[in-house]
Amino acid sequence: MMSIPEIFGSNVFSPAVMKERLPKQVYAEVINAMVNGGQISMATADVVADAMKNWAVEKGATHYCHWFQPLTGSTAEKHDSFLTLPDDEGRTLLHLSGKKLIMGEPDASSFPSGGLRATSYARGYTAWDMTSPAFVKEETAGTILCIPTVFVSYTGEALDAKTPLLRSMEAVSKQAIRMVRLFGNTEAKKVTAFVGSEQEYFLVDRKKYLKRRDLIYTGRTLFGAPAPKGQELDDHYFGQIRERVGAFMKDLNIELWKFGISATTQHNEVAPAQHEMAPIFSTANVAVDQNQLTMETMKNIAYRHGLVCLLHEKPYAGVNGSGKHNNWSVGTDLGENLFDPGDHPEDNLQFMLVLTCVISAIDNHADLLRQSASDVGNEHRLGAQEAPPAIISIFLGSQLEELVTRIIAGVDDTPAPTFKNVTLNTGVSTVPVFMKDATDRNRTSPFAFTGNRFEFRMVGSSDSVAAPNTALNAALAEAFCDAADMLEQADDFVTACKAYIKDSLTKHQRIIFNGDGYSDDWIKEAERRGLPNIKSMVEAIPVLVQSDVIALYEKFGIFTQAELESRAEIQYENYVSKIGIEAKVAIHMAGKHYIPTGIKFSTTLAASYAAVAAAGVDATVQKNLLAKVSRLTKQAQDALDELIVACNESDLITNVAEMAHAYLNRVVPAMQALRTPVDELELIVDKSIWPVPTYGDLMFEV
Ligand code: ADP
Ligand code: MG
Repeated sequence: MMSIPEIFGSNVFSPAVMKERLPKQVYAEVINAMVNGGQISMATADVVADAMKNWAVEKGATHYCHWFQPLTGSTAEKHDSFLTLPDDEGRTLLHLSGKKLIMGEPDASSFPSGGLRATSYARGYTAWDMTSPAFVKEETAGTILCIPTVFVSYTGEALDAKTPLLRSMEAVSKQAIRMVRLFGNTEAKKVTAFVGSEQEYFLVDRKKYLKRRDLIYTGRTLFGAPAPKGQELDDHYFGQIRERVGAFMKDLNIELWKFGISATTQHNEVAPAQHEMAPIFSTANVAVDQNQLTMETMKNIAYRHGLVCLLHEKPYAGVNGSGKHNNWSVGTDLGENLFDPGDHPEDNLQFMLVLTCVISAIDNHADLLRQSASDVGNEHRLGAQEAPPAIISIFLGSQLEELVTRIIAGVDDTPAPTFKNVTLNTGVSTVPVFMKDATDRNRTSPFAFTGNRFEFRMVGSSDSVAAPNTALNAALAEAFCDAADMLEQADDFVTACKAYIKDSLTKHQRIIFNGDGYSDDWIKEAERRGLPNIKSMVEAIPVLVQSDVIALYEKFGIFTQAELESRAEIQYENYVSKIGIEAKVAIHMAGKHYIPTGIKFSTTLAASYAAVAAAGVDATVQKNLLAKVSRLTKQAQDALDELIVACNESDLITNVAEMAHAYLNRVVPAMQALRTPVDELELIVDKSIWPVPTYGDLMFEV
């Protein structure tokens, strides 16, 4: 019998393990630094490192690594063994020093730096993030002790996803504390950003996957006619979990639990072969680490089951893609969730001010949020073929929206709406009557209030959640700071606060939208309201270096202008590289698989036509098919030629931003133009000679 409490966190060097293994004083020093920030002494670091090493070695570890998140979107690790220089008699000892625990020095030159290194040195440093626990990973390469770290350049510029996130967490904490002080809270020392990121994914049979160059190289299908059945019956969502998938989920849970990741929800998603896992939320930086570890674990466990886990935002055209709902809240160290309205938000001035600050933060930086959720795969979801649109708006639910409307209108005399949860009667006498939630759900909103947190739904499934949470924390820090600057000076706090709320809500009400975010009307309405609708990742990149964004990030010490410029550069490079790979794969598949298949099939048809016609029988089927196959094959060849030209000419452009635009406006459409005739061919060519597994094979035979 498996005992979850026993395996949970068994691969984590948690505070509980530290408490057991460290001298009392050392433990206290570490916990104090973890909770309140600040440094630990080198002597302490040595003691912690030794305990950590001993613990890991007992778990079978042979190596340790600094585990970090460079701007590649995934994680990086370089393993070093615990071996020491053999002594005169040829014996070695296992050792980890405090210095090696707290800092590492990988060569930074092969990681994306967006030009930052040109102004500094090739050196980079990894530094221990004490607030995210170390863990061991059991890999075929051995059991590895992983120490979560940040990654910075020689001059201290962030080269990773986590450094700015940690900075943003400090910023929002500091400003939120000013905010709660206004309401007489003198006890809270710190406010923490919490994140729960739901992870969507697809599973595909590994043998079939290996027959598709597009899946192997790009993580998505670049070609493929729709299967006869898609998601129109809504029968996959929450449907019965197939045995093979169930076995995968069971193993996945166990491995995640060992890492202390509280995997809790599992279900089938909307598209065939699409699934979801949600953990219980945690501190934002831990959630970011755990989400990376989750994605990695999903891939590993899938492999064990003869499957491949596809984390791409859009593996298949025509059915839903995958996202990562980012649930976000902020709360004090006393356990108060600042986003919790309580039963009477209308009488809860602090909640109303917090809500007002969230609304203004999102409205002020809607474009930055949209940018923070963009990656190459997410292009297929945001503002493209699939809802939601790339317009940021906030769903508050009917009751809160009514309250906001009343505040803006200055209505004080009529009774306020009640926020007490109301009971729901199903009309079936044997079913218990229960309390329903104060808000309904709105699945079409990119940023929805869900009772005590906001759910940011734009993030892509393969992306790190670090950037969106950095942006959210920063924007909120700014809004809190603005409110505090004003209200700390007020003589009559309550009156001033109410006026501030009314004023700010009036100014920012345009961002609130409770309707259908997927409708065309909303796109027009949003335009009328002046809300940004940035249609592509490439067009969103300049937001990073917009003056208001630089001002925001510099004010709170989250990014310098140079860091932002480097990130913009990296984004352009990333777009060009990824689309470039897709184009090369499309060229390969069309030239080596699809067009030869068209030719082969037309040859067979021509031979059949000649033979059948010579026999004096009706051969119009062959003739018509032959004409169609020849036409589509020619269309494909022409499109292929154009794609090659589009790539070659785009590659001549030296400015990376212009090059990214060329890839967006020329290469991407050329790939689509190639796909169209190939997908049509797929529907008429003899299945036995079609060179790759079809959508039906991939999605329905897992
Ligand atoms: P839903 O279907 O409503 O999206 P899920 O259970 O799939 O619900 O996911 C909800 C996510 O929100 C979980 O990761 C959960 O832990 C997280 N969550 C719950 N409360 C908070 C909170 N206060 N702050 C951040 N995340 C939260
Ligand atoms: Mg959700």
